[in-house]
Amino acid sequence: AKAAGKGRCAVYTPHMHEALAERVQLEADLRRAVEEGQFRVAYQPLVDMGSGSVSGVEALVRWHHPERGVVGPLTFIPLAESTGLIDAIGAYVLREACQQVAVWRDSVPGAETMRLSVNLSAHQLGDPGLVDLVTGVLSETGLPATSLVLEITESALVDQHDAALQTLHALRALGIRLAIDDFGTGYSSLSYLHRLPVDILKIDKSFVDRLSHTGDLSLVDAILGMAATLGLTTVAEGIEHAHQRHALAAQGCATGQGYHFSPPVDPELVPELVVAALRA
Ligand code: C2E
Ligand code: CA
Ligand code: CA
Ligand code: CA
Repeated sequence: AKAAGKGRCAVYTPHMHEALAERVQLEADLRRAVEEGQFRVAYQPLVDMGSGSVSGVEALVRWHHPERGVVGPLTFIPLAESTGLIDAIGAYVLREACQQVAVWRDSVPGAETMRLSVNLSAHQLGDPGLVDLVTGVLSETGLPATSLVLEITESALVDQHDAALQTLHALRALGIRLAIDDFGTGYSSLSYLHRLPVDILKIDKSFVDRLSHTGDLSLVDAILGMAATLGLTTVAEGIEHAHQRHALAAQGCATGQGYHFSPPVDPELVPELVVAALRA
């Protein structure tokens, strides 16, 4: 098929052939994973900077591949997005995590008001069935809408059409809260942000990292100031060191997430994390 002499085919090297074959295999495996239900959800605590208590968890999908073992989302989410498989994967994560958090709220001391954050991709935001899906899952699981946070990356929010914006408004009308994920990486203007129906701003890990390398608080201060102006609460992600936690807390950041508190864990381990934080 690679006719010799055609310019486009000249760059089709054996190396690229392997990359393509790999991609085709990954896509076939991913379709099968959706059919066979090979996904699991890990949970990472969101911690109240003041009290140290676990105020919520973020659901993070994992693929338990039969031969490759546990595959992280960075490996397959982009392909899941471009193939549309993300809709089915996302629906699984939403249903599973809402069910699980509803159980913890009923049974784990200190988890009575636990919130759940679920990541939403740009593709899902364009799915006309999304609002019905979320409404259905909340009523099936009994998780209050006000306890669910949907996280959308700043870059996914930037190039959205009116339909997606209406979806965001419809979700918010259910009582759900919306968070801008990876904030600070998507170049959105203050006036654009002001028009979005969001409640929470998640400061990207790259800004938290800067606190270690330079000790420079000015960028984080600017983001926290912007959030305050817009009336948004803030979560700092990727906190790995106590000094980052203390610097962010001192500047008024309400909630933290990161290896300093806990990595994402299997669901069996969440109750003891909640109880331990309660006792601390
Ligand atoms: P994210 O939403 O920004 O999630 C945070 C990522 O940072 C997670 O990686 C988490 O394990 C990692 N992390 C948390 N604390 C630390 C820390 O202190 N240090 C470092 N180095 N990393 C930390 P993970 O689980 O590999 O997920 C990667 C990305 O995949 C997520 O980034 C999110 O964009 C996407 N993703 C994960 N689950 C889902 C899902 O169910 N649906 C969609 N659409 N995307 C998902
Ligand atoms: Ca997220
Ligand atoms: Ca994030
Ligand atoms: Ca991030």
